[in-house]
Amino acid sequence: PYNATVVERLIDAGMVILGKTNTDEFTMGSSTENSAFGTTHNPWKLERVPGGSSGGSAAAVAANMAPLALGTDTGGSVRQPASFCGLTGIKPTYGRVSRYGLVAYGSSLDVVGAFGRQAVDLALIFSLIAGIDPLDATTSDIPVPEFNLDALVDLKDDHNVFLLNSADPSLNGLRIGVPDEYFLAGIQPQVESAVKEALHTLEELGAELIPVSLPHTEYALPVYYLIAPAEASANLARYDGIRYGPRIAAELLLDIYRRTRGEKFGAEVKRRVMLGTYALSAGYYDRYYGQAQKVRTLIRADFEQAFERIDLIAAPVTPTTAFSIGEHTDDPLSMYLEDIFTLPANLAGIPGIAFPVGFDQQGLPIGMQLMGPHFQEQRLFQTTFIYQQATNWHKRRPPRIHDINQNVEAKKFS
Ligand code: GLN
Repeated sequence: PYNATVVERLIDAGMVILGKTNTDEFTMGSSTENSAFGTTHNPWKLERVPGGSSGGSAAAVAANMAPLALGTDTGGSVRQPASFCGLTGIKPTYGRVSRYGLVAYGSSLDVVGAFGRQAVDLALIFSLIAGIDPLDATTSDIPVPEFNLDALVDLKDDHNVFLLNSADPSLNGLRIGVPDEYFLAGIQPQVESAVKEALHTLEELGAELIPVSLPHTEYALPVYYLIAPAEASANLARYDGIRYGPRIAAELLLDIYRRTRGEKFGAEVKRRVMLGTYALSAGYYDRYYGQAQKVRTLIRADFEQAFERIDLIAAPVTPTTAFSIGEHTDDPLSMYLEDIFTLPANLAGIPGIAFPVGFDQQGLPIGMQLMGPHFQEQRLFQTTFIYQQATNWHKRRPPRIHDINQNVEAKKFS
């Protein structure tokens, strides 16, 4: 019945909306395997997931169906699929982009982001969608820097919108923090080596690498998986079969609620509604949701302290490259562990960008993420832009669609 503000703004700017893309149900997932429409395949290797939850958007851009796509990032749903599909993806600061027209998942975490092939694409779409919206009271009135794209490309920008002196296509003077906590045992060796190689390139371009510690990182996963389901359980209460969503008819009102919610929500959504409702229930609120909010404050403070000494933080996006379809579906915890490096930015509300920095032995893309202080998206675009001027990873494309089609035929993927 109406468009989201972000969609209206793209249409106003002359862009053509091609369609909606696949996602995990209510964006709860890391692989699109929780989608009611089926699983999206990764254009780089069809038996692998594209990531999630915005895996349909990432796969569409990676497969050359569209140059740009939108997605939302509550715990990594733009950065992780961007990484799995060899794309550049931006998760803006919380409150930077209007959520009017969006189905809410975790209201204190959700933000609309975008996928493209390179930082310049994202700077363009970000400049169109970001900014205050009277229809979303959480949007900030902090002005959105004007992205002068010619200037960004030519590096001759004289607006004072970028941290770096763009007359000088180097990263001289940029201090990049490298947190120990993001280089854990268990991370795929090729992911670690590609990210370290990219750090080396940033250093060669003039950045200074500074070890930093974000000591509460290990709590991000349990904190997120309490806060997000708690908020989701409240948000999804509106799907009662009366006002929103489909309805299963029954004689008694209570049966309409029970049957509609019982039959129409998928397994992962029900798991989270139950977990979240429990975490919010009388007697447990302080022990779970309240406690998680306190630890969230500590996670946010880790970043604030780090940003007193440094300009950006660099880390892997995910511990592994794209995993196989079905690999984690029987074990929700192992699926949740895929989000370990992306969740902290959502808990802190800070912006993050993911971009390709290499490929593993299977030919699957490896991503790196940069995180910045609140409302400093331009610093992320500029740094990634300079890295992409010096490297070619973002120019690689998956096997041609033609070959993919033959492959599908041969292997009979369903
Ligand atoms: N994978 C995370 C989750 O399932 C994040 C999803 C998202 O960002 N929407 O909650």
